[in-house]
Amino acid sequence: MTASPLSLRVCRPRRAAPAEAVRPTRAEINLGHLRHNLRVLKRAAGPAAVYGVLKADAYGHGGPAVARTLERAGIEGFAVALIEEAIELREAGIRAPLLVMGGHYGRAWGELLRHELTPVVFDPGQLEALAAEARLAGAGPVGVHLKIDTSMGRLGARPHEVAALARAFARHPEVRLAGLMTHLACADDPTSDATRTQLALFARVEAELAAAGLRPGVRHAANSAALLAGNAPGFEWVRPGVALFGVAPATGLGPELRPVMRVRTEIVALRRLEAGEALGYGWAWRAERPSLIATLPLGYADGLPRGLSNQGNLLVRGKRAPVVGVVSMDMVMVDVTDHPGVGVGDEAVALGPQRGPLGAGEITASEIAAQTGTIPWEVLTGVSRRVPRFFREP
Ligand SMILES: *Cc1c(COP(=O)(O)O)cnc(C)c1O
Repeated sequence: MTASPLSLRVCRPRRAAPAEAVRPTRAEINLGHLRHNLRVLKRAAGPAAVYGVLKADAYGHGGPAVARTLERAGIEGFAVALIEEAIELREAGIRAPLLVMGGHYGRAWGELLRHELTPVVFDPGQLEALAAEARLAGAGPVGVHLKIDTSMGRLGARPHEVAALARAFARHPEVRLAGLMTHLACADDPTSDATRTQLALFARVEAELAAAGLRPGVRHAANSAALLAGNAPGFEWVRPGVALFGVAPATGLGPELRPVMRVRTEIVALRRLEAGEALGYGWAWRAERPSLIATLPLGYADGLPRGLSNQGNLLVRGKRAPVVGVVSMDMVMVDVTDHPGVGVGDEAVALGPQRGPLGAGEITASEIAAQTGTIPWEVLTGVSRRVPRFFREP
């Protein structure tokens, strides 16, 4: 296999590597919990094949290591958003089937074939380009998954465009309809009719394709929420993402999931403030009593949301320590006045569990999301590349 000009142009993310870590700030990835979550999802999936969604560097956990662990644990395949992400996994030695969902391939059709990636398509021009590339490469029929927009309004063929797509498949025997998929907008809301409406539309499209002689080998719609809520049954594949990483996609779903990422650092400085003294940018916090303040080398550039200013918590010695003042780019301060025995070098946990002499606690991505007006998906993917990932076997 020769290196193609394109793969040279594909931008690889540069992450901080564990061996380069001097700062004690790091994300620990618990591979045992990852395997546990896969078992939970496999049980929920029944006979359906589990395709783990590893877009955005496996939701910030480190794509290659996560994929390797899940592949060895028997996952059927993976889905990613970008062709760049899929190539990164192939170059890391991942052999499992890879579905590229984002729909943007530029001129990289040859890369898709070379790396044996399965593209998601939704317009006849994509079939034409892929067919031309397959002819050039002398490849056999290339399997693609057709995405139907059943009112997510984001990506996929609208139902009225399906007839034209069926004709495009007929014109291009180099391309084979291997799968049919859609994406659900409200799978996390059991009171919503949206999922039923979307699945009914999906069934109509499937029937129309069948009438045109097109029968996809597999169908899939379920994300983590739909899989755990059981509201998109009967398909051959499921596509969970966030649940693999131990986050319940909605309250009460997947209570047995275990968090995979733990973000920890260590206290680098301690100072006593008099009552009335202020701290941080804008003097946004003022001590109401004589206070002991710990400075931590973790800030918003590492993914600690600035929205936690004056309202978040970290765990120190197993007990919550409130964030005081505004989170700055590289640092945050916490109030450890009520943490007897605290010292420089003590561990502080921003995400995940901690056990210590003062107790045991856990900060979840869902808690941080609720405090900062976002969703746990954004909290996990927000942990930046400056934070090295350490992969742990339990
Ligand atoms: C991200 C994504 C998923 C996985 O969603 P989760 O809510 O993380 O389980 C599944 N399908 C598509 C098309 C996606 O973009």
